[in-house]
Amino acid sequence: MDHFDYKNGRICAESVPLAHIAKAVGTPFYCYATATIERHYRVFSQALEGLDSTICYAVKANGNTAVIRTLARLGAGADVVSGGELKRALVAGVPHDKIVFSGVAKTREEMAAALDAGVMQINVESEAELAILNQVAVARGVQAPVAIRVNPDVDAGTHEKITTGRTEHKFGIEWTRVHQVYAEAAAMPGIRTSGVAVHIGSQITDLEPFRAAFIKVRDLVAMLRADGHAIGRIDLGGGLGIPYGEAGANGSVPTPEAYGKMVKEVVGDLGCHVLVEPGRVIVGNAGILVAKIVYIKEGSTRTFVIVDAAMNDLIRPTLYNAYHAIVPVAEPPADAAWKEVDVVGPVCETGDTFGSQRKLPPLEAGDLLAFRTAGAYGAVQASVYNSRSLVPEVLVRDGAFAVVRERIDTDDILARETFPDWMD
Ligand SMILES: *Cc1c(COP(=O)(O)O)cnc(C)c1O
Repeated sequence: MDHFDYKNGRICAESVPLAHIAKAVGTPFYCYATATIERHYRVFSQALEGLDSTICYAVKANGNTAVIRTLARLGAGADVVSGGELKRALVAGVPHDKIVFSGVAKTREEMAAALDAGVMQINVESEAELAILNQVAVARGVQAPVAIRVNPDVDAGTHEKITTGRTEHKFGIEWTRVHQVYAEAAAMPGIRTSGVAVHIGSQITDLEPFRAAFIKVRDLVAMLRADGHAIGRIDLGGGLGIPYGEAGANGSVPTPEAYGKMVKEVVGDLGCHVLVEPGRVIVGNAGILVAKIVYIKEGSTRTFVIVDAAMNDLIRPTLYNAYHAIVPVAEPPADAAWKEVDVVGPVCETGDTFGSQRKLPPLEAGDLLAFRTAGAYGAVQASVYNSRSLVPEVLVRDGAFAVVRERIDTDDILARETFPDWMD
């Protein structure tokens, strides 16, 4: 469910025609719908009703500060994975005591920033990291609130690049070592362990891997309590998948309701405060990427629709073989003769293909196309490859729109490049 629908023959974001935005800001651009972001947050939080819980939105899915603020205003916390994301969450207005800091490679500087900000929890992913965090905290005369991220050795059944919960992955501490690591942590003056964390991957379309991981967490909590540790909090990570196909064409995904019910069944009676870190499921289909057709190129075996957006703007098709529905912004007439085309970008790589053999109505240069479900892992992964711009991000609310990040173009980048003296 989203808020990008045809109205009077053209796609509108809520009630703003995308063509209006294109005229005002140029193409390509990302567009986010406030109504969709808010709806998904509310559906997710209703699914957890009755559970003592905090939703820490995973900022890495979409780090635009206006998007984060939209969620913070509804009561969301944040899950951050770098000092940069910590800064974003704070600037956007997320209360410091609702921020969780995750990530395998936190530096001393990032740890210090997190402690100074007073975050709720730092999720520690290795014994080496635990030792450094202890030093940083002791030097500041504080205790770091820590959850140990465990690696439950569960296969999430998702794309290999975004599965994180097996022993061969870099994430978390092997669950068989958790007993010992908590004992070590308890002896460290700068560490106050308060919880157990897991996150097994992203775009997970089956509840069973979650259930298997959460059962391990429940068992660990029982074991750690038996060891004498006070475990008041568990962090179940994010990862719930969303449909990317046309009208759910690529299979079904569990609803937030089903996910919430399972969470309550497995960990509801532990007496723990439960953190969840959804990203994609909140913002994924709250965003689209809008591009303009530059050329139509008729080959002998294929027709190429060449657009002004590229893999640097939206890398998911190239990186994960991801499917994004591609739709014309102007509604095609009912009798249009649809045919199969390849939609490609300008970058000098064959991988710069948004869709192969997609059915689209007759199109011409200058027409607008929209790539749906681009709100998560879209703009945040953009680069300036081929000296392209970082495209604008636009937020819509009802009938209004605002540019919430301006285009960052080659002049902006060139202003930060210099020639060394010896080239004078
Ligand atoms: C990426 C990530 C998330 C969010 O994952 P989604 O699939 O977007 O819900 C949550 N927690 C951690 C630790 C992550 O790395």
